[in-house]
Amino acid sequence: MNNPLLQKFNTKHTTAPFSLIKNEHFKPAFKEAIKKAKAEINNITKNTNVPTFENTIEILEFSGKTLKRISSIFFNLNSAETNDDIQKIAQEVSPWLSDFANDIRLNQKLFKRVQLVYDIKDELNLTAEQDMLLNNQYKMFVRNGANLNDIDKETLRGIDKKLSKLSLQFGENVLAETNAFELHITEENRLKGLPDGAKEAAQLLAKQKEKHGWVFTLDYPSYIPFMTYIDDRNLREKLAKVFGARAFKNNKNDNQQIVLNIVKLRHKRANLLGYKTHAHFVLEERMAETPKKVRSFSNELLTKAKPAAEREFKQLSDFAKKDGIEQLQKWDGAYYSEKLKKELFDLDQEALKPYFKLENVIDGVFMVAHKLFDLQFKEIDTIDTYHKEVKTYEVTNTKGDFIAVFYADFFPRKGKRNGAWMTSYKGQWEINDENSRPHISIVCNFTKPTETKPSLLTFNEVTTLFHEFGHALHGMLANTTYPSLSGTNVYWDFVELPSQLLENWCYEKEALDLFARHYKTNEPIPMEMVQKIKDSSNFLEGIQTLRQLSFGLLDMSWHGGDSPEAITSVKDFETKAFTDTQLYPDVAENCMSTAFSHIFQGGYSSGYYSYKWAEVLDADAFEAFKETGIFNKETAKKYAENVLSQGGTEKPMVLYKRFRGKEPNSDALLKRAGLINKIA
Ligand SMILES: [Zn+2]
Repeated sequence: MNNPLLQKFNTKHTTAPFSLIKNEHFKPAFKEAIKKAKAEINNITKNTNVPTFENTIEILEFSGKTLKRISSIFFNLNSAETNDDIQKIAQEVSPWLSDFANDIRLNQKLFKRVQLVYDIKDELNLTAEQDMLLNNQYKMFVRNGANLNDIDKETLRGIDKKLSKLSLQFGENVLAETNAFELHITEENRLKGLPDGAKEAAQLLAKQKEKHGWVFTLDYPSYIPFMTYIDDRNLREKLAKVFGARAFKNNKNDNQQIVLNIVKLRHKRANLLGYKTHAHFVLEERMAETPKKVRSFSNELLTKAKPAAEREFKQLSDFAKKDGIEQLQKWDGAYYSEKLKKELFDLDQEALKPYFKLENVIDGVFMVAHKLFDLQFKEIDTIDTYHKEVKTYEVTNTKGDFIAVFYADFFPRKGKRNGAWMTSYKGQWEINDENSRPHISIVCNFTKPTETKPSLLTFNEVTTLFHEFGHALHGMLANTTYPSLSGTNVYWDFVELPSQLLENWCYEKEALDLFARHYKTNEPIPMEMVQKIKDSSNFLEGIQTLRQLSFGLLDMSWHGGDSPEAITSVKDFETKAFTDTQLYPDVAENCMSTAFSHIFQGGYSSGYYSYKWAEVLDADAFEAFKETGIFNKETAKKYAENVLSQGGTEKPMVLYKRFRGKEPNSDALLKRAGLINKIA
């Protein structure tokens, strides 16, 4: 069968053949690739020679390549360009994949061979990377029930199947709820306060839907400007409540029971494997190691940030009182923050946007990568994509060596999920002295160009682009032997270091001067604006910190408690978890958990704290650049050699210390956030 997904395409320039792929190719390709991967595993277990690192660990590491490749294409499409057919296929193949994964994890013969190598590892003279690979493989079996009896193994397989379906359903419900709503406005006077750009975008959206007037949706590029600028408080309240009620309306897309089921099953699974809670299970393989440490880390930051947050909330409330607002509500937050920020800093986000034309920002981030890591990006149109909006680049170093393929997909579309993320279509590895380079992608939902204006990014979108590009650098500069230890394949609470670190350059004049130019006049962004960006970046930092901590603590409450069977109400449970971190009055008909995709759809369960954790790391790491100059080649080299290129080949703390010369501490973050002098 001529299935493009089953052709060989892992040579240097051969990228995913999107234009040839039809939906009907996926299922047969998955079936065939699973068969092939199974045969590869069989070859390992059939081997009658004494198990060695080479004939067992390495072969296992490189098995299932086709399957991994097909999966990455398919699931990336399911996030960036999905439709009913793809979602249906996902529902069908997800159980096949978890079955196959469990077949490996619970393969006793394979485990025995790995275990035999593991038992003599001290005699093998392994490199640090090999040692890490062996440890990971051994733990993969044990953490997936290799030591369980047959009955418990069956139970585990059942739980995993259910969990995989539930997570998928959770995500589909959130997407369906997001797409199901639109706010159609026909009288222009109701749009008072809204900047022209957002107005035009809403008009374009209406046009596309063959309607008059303006249409707003729950997609961020539509929702966020609406909540930030619309003067009409009732309209803001209406949209905020619809947004906050996603998958919490007792309709067919409701996620309440799904949340409870996921939490209970995760707990049961952890218990079965001998862990106290799901959080204990997850954190065993994190830099933070235990729920206790996460809680003490979070509570320490909470203690330090809360007084500042309360002061800021009062300041914001007093400011809104001038408008006759007696009690500041959630739908007032963004609106009055923006107004107060403007009053204090006279920094109008809209006035900044002309300096951040998307194309200029892309050039800027490429220049930063060039100055730091000697990378060059050349846009090419010979690479196949899944949508005409996707841009493609060939990445080389200054010597001309091929480093990576880079895809960038910037604008929202129906069928693309919210937010921004980095992903890959092919990893990096080394076989027989040949370094096989990665195919990396970033996907965003940035402000679209309109009929009269190019895509002008908000400052937040600029930092988002730098963030995702930081992840992309982690992928592109990967330089390891084994694919499972390459690039962003690191502990979860370490993975946000490269992304958050790169955001720091957005606040530096030296970096902004490279690309922040007015799209009409080509004038560089004025110095005082840069200074204002800097000053205002700490604005309401206490409130922001509390918000992030509240999500992390909610996550830990769902996954770190020892009796999830006792939870009956998602809303009540959530309200309780939020007790110490909430500043705004609760909205009874809203719920965060039912749309908390990070922890119920994606892989962030027991890991949301890692955003703040990584902030501590990134602030500390950026100090190294500030000490030597933000484009200091030596510092950048040290960072690339010890962190970016190393992936997960060693424990993150070891890698970090090699770069920084010391362990990180939270001083740099508290200083940067302007919280440290407010503590005393
Ligand atoms: Zn990130």
